Parts: sequence; structure tokens; C-alpha cells
Amino acid sequence: MQALEALTRDAKALANGEIVLSDPEAEVARQLQICNACRYCEGFCAVFPAMTRRLEFGKADIHFIANLCHNCGACLHACQYAPPHEFAVNVPQAMAQVRGQTYADYAWPPALGQLYQRNGLTLALALVAGLTLFLLLAVVLHGQGVNALWQSPVGGFYGIFPHNLLVGLFAPVFLFAVLALGLGVRRFWRDVTPATSGAPLSTPATAEATDAVLRLKYLDGGHGDGCHNEDDAYTLSRRRMHHFTFYGFMLCFAATSVATLYHYLLDMPAPYDLPSLPKLLGGIGGVSLAIGTAGLWRLNLRRHPLHGDAAQKPMDRAFIALLFLTATSGLALWAARGTAGLPLLLCLHLGAVMALFATLPYGKFAHGIFRTASLLRHAVEKRQPNPIGLGTD
Ligand code: SF4
Ligand code: SF4
Repeated sequence: MQALEALTRDAKALANGEIVLSDPEAEVARQLQICNACRYCEGFCAVFPAMTRRLEFGKADIHFIANLCHNCGACLHACQYAPPHEFAVNVPQAMAQVRGQTYADYAWPPALGQLYQRNGLTLALALVAGLTLFLLLAVVLHGQGVNALWQSPVGGFYGIFPHNLLVGLFAPVFLFAVLALGLGVRRFWRDVTPATSGAPLSTPATAEATDAVLRLKYLDGGHGDGCHNEDDAYTLSRRRMHHFTFYGFMLCFAATSVATLYHYLLDMPAPYDLPSLPKLLGGIGGVSLAIGTAGLWRLNLRRHPLHGDAAQKPMDRAFIALLFLTATSGLALWAARGTAGLPLLLCLHLGAVMALFATLPYGKFAHGIFRTASLLRHAVEKRQPNPIGLGTD
């Protein structure tokens, strides 16, 4: 009966030229109507101030608000209408389901949006294994025999894969990932901008959103004690492990960028030794990334079943595993310099990095990009007069 009602509603909306909400979007709209009447959670995060500026929730409003939610779990554990109450309000879960849909809807090219549903741990590890085997085969053929797999090469890892070959392999995959994510978030931005006042970015708004992103402000629960993971106790672990992961990733990226400048501008080819800048950045970044991803994996395994969207767990774990493998194989590669283990570890590390780049636009990485866009729009919108004159920011 419910399906028939939904079909009738969709048919009427289509006939009137209205935009039809998907089931997860309609569920967020339903819950936000309840929250708008209740407003108990107003101080928790950016979602509730954004909600109070609206009496109705269209598609763009829902996409914007869902990507503002950091899935901290606070409003679930505080809610008197949470399951088993008949209102069944579970904001973090409803928002997570819409976020998953957002990533697929805004994927570029659109046909690849389905990859979000298929992205999982098995696929990620199979991709790493396949790429590693391919690279091992290349080493055998290039070195004229399997002995090349356990011989310390002359000239370090560039003695196995020349620098220009590595650039030729990795640069197109990385640039495609940047392009795909950039085009996807540009379309998202265009859709949510009219729904969030339409005002342009200002310096104070950008500074506020940047601060919220860099400090992961909304994982502090609004009071600084942290968010929730396995139960209703507050914890700062999720915030800290995200910071280890994010800054570790950024330091590794900085190490690669500095090494590229050394190579092309200063004519100083790798490998580099301590205390060179690429080595320092890469070493600290690799350790930080390994700690952060190990912590996030542990937290993910223990996560409260009502938080988030269970269907997205394989995608979450695939991303964490790829980052962990990239960090640990990179550190092992450093330790194995000048030893017979170098060719095998190099192939594993390159296979992990290539798999990470290839899955970047269709995996969990997207959550950081879309959330940043929503935080920017929120910082802009809250500086505009409240269109309904109710509530305050
Ligand atoms: S989540 Fe529950 S307690 Fe919080 S505002 Fe919504 S209805 Fe109220
Ligand atoms: S789960 Fe946390 S971030 Fe998301 S709406 Fe609730 S309080 Fe806000």
C-alpha cells in the first residue's frame, strides 16, 4: 500500500513538473519536519541551525544538509523520538543514506556513479593484488628473469622503474581523479547555491569553513567532549584518528610535491636521505597515516549499528585499508632500501598507490570534498538574513 501511495505521489509531482524526492531524501525531509518542531539538538552541529532557516525541504536543501552532518551520533543518543519510538527519528542514519546517494548522483562521468555501490574491501584488495602482479611481471620481463624479483637493483627503485615511466603511469590516473571529483563537486555546488541564499563566498565565510574543516569542529559534539562511536559515551578518538589520517595524507602529498620540485627544478633526483625535506615529510606523514587508519579501522568495526548506513561500510573499509596499505608499504620500502626485498615491496607499494588513485573519485574520499562544499555554503548562508525570521544561528 505504501509503495502505491509513493508511486501516486511521484506521478502527481511529475505531472506538476515538481522534482521527486527519492525514498532516502523523503525520509530526511520527514525527520527534519519533526526536528524543526522539537529543536532540542540545536547546539550540536551545523545541521540544526541550517534546518531552522527552512520550513520545507527540497532536494537541494536535503543534499546540502545531509553533507553538513558529520555522523557524530549525538542527536541519535539525545533523541526522545529515536527507535523504538514510533517516530523512528534517526538523523545520522537518514543523512548518511542521502550522502551515499549524493556521491553517486554527482559522480563524473555519471555512468560511473554506480561504482560507489560496488566499491568494497574485496574489490580494493583485488585491485591492489592485480596491479602488484602486473608490476611484478614487468620487473621479471624487464630484468630478464625471476631473479630480478629479489635482487637489490643498482640505482634504487628508479633502477627498477625509471622516473619518467612512473610519472607516465601515475600522473594520468591522479589527474583523472582530480578532474572527476572537481566536476562532481562543481555540479553539487551549482545545485545547492540557490538553496543556500545564492550569495557568493566571502573571506570571513571561507575562513570559518576552513577552520571547521581543519579542526573537524563538528566531531566535538558541540561541547568539546567528542562524539559517539560504539555507545552513548563521548569520545575524541574519532576526531583524533581522522586528524592523524588527514594530516598524514597531506604530509605524504607534500613529500611527493617537494620531491617533484627537487627533481625538475633543482635537478636533484631521488632517492633522498634524512634529513632532506621529502624524507622528513614522507616519514612523519606515513607514520601518522598508518596510526590514523589503524585507529579508524578499529572504530569502524565497533561502530554503533544505528549510526550511519550499513550499506556503505564496505566502501568505508576499502578506503581505510587502501590508505593503510599505502602508508605501511611506503614505510617498509624505506626500511628495505639497499636490500633484496626492495623489488617486491616497490611493486606492492605502487600497486596500493595506483589502486588508491583509481578508486579516489568513487569511494569514501568524496565525503571530505562534499562536506567541505556544504560547510562553505553554510558559512555563507548563516551570514544572510534568516528568510523565515524564526530561530537564530
Ligand atoms: S533529533 Fe530528536 S531530539 Fe534532536 S531535534 Fe530531532 S527530534 Fe528533537
Ligand atoms: S549526527 Fe551529529 S553531525 Fe549529524 S546531525 Fe546529528 S548531531 Fe549533527
